[in-house]
Amino acid sequence: MTEAEKKYGWEEGGKIVRITREAYDSILSQAREDAPIESCGYVLGTIDEAENIQITHNYRLTNTDHSEEHFSLDPKEQFAAIKYARTNGLKVIGNWHSHPASPSRPSDEDKRLAFDPNILYLILSLSPDISGQPYVAEGEPVLNAFRIVNGKVTRFPVVV
Ligand SMILES: [Zn+2]
Repeated sequence: MTEAEKKYGWEEGGKIVRITREAYDSILSQAREDAPIESCGYVLGTIDEAENIQITHNYRLTNTDHSEEHFSLDPKEQFAAIKYARTNGLKVIGNWHSHPASPSRPSDEDKRLAFDPNILYLILSLSPDISGQPYVAEGEPVLNAFRIVNGKVTRFPVVV
């Protein structure tokens, strides 16, 4: 286990997840608009034969908790998002939510509520704490993707 893994409680997934500029900007502006409330959505895109993930769309969802510390999704909106993905030949890569004031890593609650081992859980941090983030410059927001299986966390940096 590396120092970073010990410190942050995740293991490195060994690859990055790509996101288009358009999808990234959409997530970022939505999160900034909703702050200090946590913002959320689905990320849609493609996975090729080599398992390379490319996120191309942000599908906005409502945080029905309207909370600064946690989020819940509306099942009707989730269903509509899945339908939208299918209609447009896209895969549901996972969901994302923002941490307006804390780092980009899953909270204990995030881990507890991560039921699906097949999707990625993305966390966009608007906090200035960028420790442990190899792809992020000072002052920039941090976006990571996590696979969470039985509370065990694997991290994939998300790069535009
Ligand atoms: Zn969270």
